[in-house]
Amino acid sequence: MDNKNIISTDILIVGAGVAGLSTAISLSDKLKQKSLKKRIIIVEKGASVGSHILSGAVIRPQAFKELLTTGEFDGIPFDSKVSSVDKVIKLNDNGTDITLPLHPPYMSNDGNYLASLGQICKYLATLAEARGVEIYTGFSVDSVLYDDENKVIGVKTKDTGIDHNGVKQKNYQEGTKVKASITIFAEGTRGSAVKTVIDKLHLDAGKNPQIYSLGIKELWKLPKGRVEVGSVRHTFGYPLRDKEEFGGGFIYGLTNDMVAVGLVVGLDYEDPTFDPHSTMQIWKTHPYVSSILDGGSVVEAGAKTLPEGGWNSIPKYYGDNMLIVGDSAGFLSTPRLKGIHLAVQSAICAADTASFAMQKGDTSKKTLARYEELVNDSCIYDELYPTRNMRASMQRGMVCGGIQMGMQLLTGGACLLVPKVKNDYETTKDFSKFSNQPFNERFAGKLEFDKKLTFDKVTTVYKSKAMHDEIQIPHLQIKNKALFKNSNIDNYGLSEASMCPAEVYELHTDKQSGEKSLRLHAENCLHCKTCDIKSPNGAITWITPYGGDGPDYNMM
Ligand SMILES: Cc1cc2nc3c(=O)[nH]c(=O)nc-3n(C[C@H](O)[C@H](O)[C@H](O)COP(=O)(O)OP(=O)(O)OC[C@H]3O[C@@H](n4cnc5c(N)ncnc54)[C@H](O)[C@@H]3O)c2cc1C
Ligand code: SF4
Repeated sequence: MDNKNIISTDILIVGAGVAGLSTAISLSDKLKQKSLKKRIIIVEKGASVGSHILSGAVIRPQAFKELLTTGEFDGIPFDSKVSSVDKVIKLNDNGTDITLPLHPPYMSNDGNYLASLGQICKYLATLAEARGVEIYTGFSVDSVLYDDENKVIGVKTKDTGIDHNGVKQKNYQEGTKVKASITIFAEGTRGSAVKTVIDKLHLDAGKNPQIYSLGIKELWKLPKGRVEVGSVRHTFGYPLRDKEEFGGGFIYGLTNDMVAVGLVVGLDYEDPTFDPHSTMQIWKTHPYVSSILDGGSVVEAGAKTLPEGGWNSIPKYYGDNMLIVGDSAGFLSTPRLKGIHLAVQSAICAADTASFAMQKGDTSKKTLARYEELVNDSCIYDELYPTRNMRASMQRGMVCGGIQMGMQLLTGGACLLVPKVKNDYETTKDFSKFSNQPFNERFAGKLEFDKKLTFDKVTTVYKSKAMHDEIQIPHLQIKNKALFKNSNIDNYGLSEASMCPAEVYELHTDKQSGEKSLRLHAENCLHCKTCDIKSPNGAITWITPYGGDGPDYNMM
């Protein structure tokens, strides 16, 4: 794809994650069965397939069996099968731990596999290309194209060669317009293009707002024999507080003495100073975790959000000429902490719908409504509908919420008095309303990182290999600068600096006047989307930087 053309295709897929690639594979197969020859294009902002992919990951394999041939399934680069070590552990503040005698509902991993999702995406890309799918990496989709009736007709990639003031440089190139009969949004969590479509077409009308968690992940190399291959440990408790912060940790034992560790924290917390990255570092100092990591070294690190609202937060995921798959639609099971199999399943349903529409020669929303019927007949509905009130119940704390969740298992998900779900940016309190102990006081003495077990944010950026061209309009846009100064900086103390895992936001205080202002280090950004989700007043909009910018994950 060169940057000067308008190009046309039958199907355009935005994002080469597991959802986008699976859609392309399944669609190619279905079109072939119908003897239809159609052009399928995938546009991916990462420099290569997988470079922006970060997941756990424990994978439920069934949907891949439906997607691929037996030979192709056998070729999936899973790391290992989950072993008999599949535990849930409560970490206590006093350094002790208790392993639960039974799995909480949905948390057993029997028959599942451990893997790097980025590696699986690379493999799926080879299968898609072998079917004739064109994959263009290093191109960011910047905006969505509509016709006169507000129907989606394609996308435009990012203009390049513009300085940070918006002045065109000698190397300016306008982005490519990609026009398509059907555009499938597979941008993953908080997709920046699909977000504008959902807003414009009111696809979330009558739904709960989508709410998110942020996962901070590190991949460690350990001394030989330290961790069992295939072992799965999920923790809850320390350093998170039961009612105030929802979330927990994961420790996945991989081959070659590698271990994937991470902490996932709900972004519906109230403390304007709460810092998920530092919380992850403190989590590692609990003796249960530190005894595993001691003597090892970090190979890669990064962060990403995940949509956790469940069934009640899923927008309408089809419209005229368009479909939404995977995390972009919110197909993720919170009690399982798993979205990969649902991304694949949604891809299969979307591909079936798109091939049907191609055959019929009708891509209107009336025809594409078939996608909803297929989703409702699939494991997506079976998994998400009965747990539809679960995440909202957890706002009462893991203990109380856990009891309510148990009752929901008996009622098929029905529940009285479910707390109202608010946007994550609405739950942060400003200093005048926040009366609890702030984060820095709560963890005083634990925020000096030793660079052996615990690390600062700059080290995480370094280990993510994130890079951005500095000659561009900052991709973190402040909607209203006066409000940002008066409210986000003065009343919330720039909570963006605490929430961001990559030190992109810095609070600068002028030595003479004492005036506080923002310094932005956009080049550090990990594309986790936390600030777009959690910034008070919804003050930050994350737009795509140049294609190829961002992290360069390998095994995440
Ligand atoms: C810390 C963490 C742990 C997790 N653990 C598990 C687990 O153990 N098991 C499990 O099943 N699930 C897990 N998940 C969830 C799982 O990773 C997601 O559900 C899954 O990755 C969703 O796939 P996707 O293709 O929809 O999105 P993604 O994997 O995010 O892929 C989206 C792709 O689109 C690209 N893209 C986005 N916007 C644009 C644009 N504008 N232009 C061009 N390209 C774009 C991105 O670069 C990316 O490559 C975890 C998630 C996290 C964050
Ligand atoms: S700037 Fe925003 S998207 Fe980028 S790493 Fe920080 S919180 Fe995440």
